[in-house]
Amino acid sequence: MFVSTPLLVVLGLGVFTIGTVVGSFLNVCIYRIPWQKSVIWPSSRCPRCLGEIAAQDNIPIVSWLALRGECRGCGEPISARYPLVEGLVGCLFLGAYLIDVFLAPRDSWGQAPVFGLAQTAYHALFLALLVAATFIDYDLMIIPDQITVTGMIVGIGAGLFWPGLRPEPSQAASALGGFGVGLAGMIVGMLITQGVRAFASFVFRREAMGFGDVTLMGMIGAFLGWQAALLIFFIAPFFGLGHAAWKLVKSIGKRMRGGQLSSSDREIPFGPYLSMAAATVLFSWKWLWEGWARGLFRTLYVLFWWLMGVNVDGPF
Ligand SMILES: [Zn+2]
Repeated sequence: MFVSTPLLVVLGLGVFTIGTVVGSFLNVCIYRIPWQKSVIWPSSRCPRCLGEIAAQDNIPIVSWLALRGECRGCGEPISARYPLVEGLVGCLFLGAYLIDVFLAPRDSWGQAPVFGLAQTAYHALFLALLVAATFIDYDLMIIPDQITVTGMIVGIGAGLFWPGLRPEPSQAASALGGFGVGLAGMIVGMLITQGVRAFASFVFRREAMGFGDVTLMGMIGAFLGWQAALLIFFIAPFFGLGHAAWKLVKSIGKRMRGGQLSSSDREIPFGPYLSMAAATVLFSWKWLWEGWARGLFRTLYVLFWWLMGVNVDGPF
């Protein structure tokens, strides 16, 4: 198959469109999964008048714009979050495609970008799960197991069936190796989160993070490997700084007006920031790993064995 640049551009538009359709489905998931409702039945309805939304009014982004953000049945406003989530997922899918296919060195393709497209699908699925976790955690401060456990199974399973699919250095040569890398990533992701959670809960005498953050980190490790999971965990707080500062300003204002602070004034969800860090690391991994993380992990490895009294060379 001859792959030309115009064909790749058309393919990219297709990937963006698929992303908006998946985003539309995720809007349903975000709204229904926390209440244990089916995500396929019944069909989409207006939350106010419960009128069924016709197919032509259910086109991602386009329908919301055409209806000027109002329900055709009752005229009530429909939140701009729906088209924004659709657009966001479209852009994230397009980003995965750009990294895995469009900007990937073309000599790695062989005849066709089949491998790059498989990587795009793998990363797109991961990003979709992150988006669902982000918005549910933001709304309700929970991350349902339906999302994270599904993610762990898919992340580990994909490595079993396609051991070379994960980014460096988490590629494996055999099915067993691919399974092991996913399992190790999941365990490291969960252990580091649970460890910091237990420590912080002990020091601050109240629950720090939720168990949903532990399973979310398990999913991230299963998809990307343990090295990426560790980096994501430690850079995630920086993504939450803005939200935390805003909460602090609001709390101070409330206290100055003589109000009592509730626990919700002190808490911010961590899932959205773990997800943002995961997406950032995913998109920059090729440069991050080669330029910095490889050296960091090699130094830590050599240092560890040196402290044990053994002189070794880095494994990667
Ligand atoms: Zn309505």
